[in-house]
Amino acid sequence: MNALSNKPDLEAFWMPFTANRQFKAAPRLLSSAEGMYYQSDDGASVIDGTAGLWCVNAGHGRESIAQAVARQASTLDFAPTFQMGHPIAFDFATRLAEIAPEGVDRVFFVNSGSEAADTALKMALAYQRVIGQGTRTRLIGRERGYHGVGFGGMSVGGIVGNRRAFGTQLPYVDHIRHTHDLERNAFTKGLPAHGAELADDLERLVGLHGADTIAAVIVEPMAGSTGVLLPPKGYLERLRAICDKHGILLIFDEVITGFGRLGTPFASQYFGVTPDLFTTAKGITNGTVPMGAVFASRKVHDTVVEGGPEGAIEFAHGYTYSGHPLACAAGLATLDIYAQEGLLTRAAEITDYWQDSVHQLRDCPFVIDVRSIGLVAGIELSSRPGAPGARAYEIFVDAFESGLLVRTTGDIIALSPPLIAEKSHVDEILTKLRDCLKRAK
Ligand code: PMP
Repeated sequence: MNALSNKPDLEAFWMPFTANRQFKAAPRLLSSAEGMYYQSDDGASVIDGTAGLWCVNAGHGRESIAQAVARQASTLDFAPTFQMGHPIAFDFATRLAEIAPEGVDRVFFVNSGSEAADTALKMALAYQRVIGQGTRTRLIGRERGYHGVGFGGMSVGGIVGNRRAFGTQLPYVDHIRHTHDLERNAFTKGLPAHGAELADDLERLVGLHGADTIAAVIVEPMAGSTGVLLPPKGYLERLRAICDKHGILLIFDEVITGFGRLGTPFASQYFGVTPDLFTTAKGITNGTVPMGAVFASRKVHDTVVEGGPEGAIEFAHGYTYSGHPLACAAGLATLDIYAQEGLLTRAAEITDYWQDSVHQLRDCPFVIDVRSIGLVAGIELSSRPGAPGARAYEIFVDAFESGLLVRTTGDIIALSPPLIAEKSHVDEILTKLRDCLKRAK
């Protein structure tokens, strides 16, 4: 603490995803949270329009999760992951399998969305090798995709800034085009009508490289971090069909869409398209303890696990903290809340009200698109000439000062409140945002 101001000393912590110099000149600090609200360190109440960072689906301060974690910490605090198990990880995997899409119910634990992406990519490579398709080493991502910050996820990811910042990428990676098309789809309610044909980009890459070089394609069923980009009608089905035709595994990144964001446990159930592997994190523990999980189809799991020689480790991959007992305890308590309160389908109940409410922002200054699905929305603004992202960033700061937390990416404002949000919370979020938009320059 800084003795004079009661504020923490800001020097030592090199903050992630933050303009450190700018932030430290005018810090925003959150000190507690309950239900739909954060409290800032100076006592202001801030409604959570983003479920933390797309993760606090059951709302903040859930006592049963806190107690489960505390109990677990004093029972079994840690167990090694090397040729050793502990019951709670098996229990948690079993419970997750119960809500998984049919046949994609073998669960590998990791600690974050980034680790989940890298793990899923490695699983795809392992599977192809075991079935004798070891030439399939190419991984395909999508422009404007986000799969975390590991070298695998960054390489298949399509955020230009992230990629250029580091230079070195995995070799043998290619990208299909993104589907964001304001000319044809702006202000669509529901899924965009145009763009399913962009899935055929995968056919183009098959033509270019040969199917026998391609292991997998990874996409977010709904891209969140890059601005709430919804898949055009029929797009995911088409991607699935092309993958099937060419023996390419389809990986969904459900780090944001997992655990009820769209009104079904997972987006694959919402869209009726089943991937071979999918990644999750965030809502798996309601954001309380870092954790992620990759769900593998039985085909992929059984092939890899039964494919190696007896006694050998079939998949030489994992983390010290895979299936950490505290994370599993948090996850089990989280699943109990989701089940008791119907939160995995709650977004479906409120989605019409949500959509109608967010679309009312279309007449606000600078708004060039409004899109929504489940309990997520993207409000896209025109950029200030010469300063892309500046307008939305100023709105983010103004919103926080007026008691609303939003997430911005470029000039897009993303909203994804906790799934416990009532209509009155939706109204509060959108009234505050409307006021900010009116003040925007
Ligand atoms: N994939 C997606 C789709 C994400 O949205 C995120 C995080 N926003 C990640 C991966 C990375 O997750 P983490 O920050 O937990 O590594």
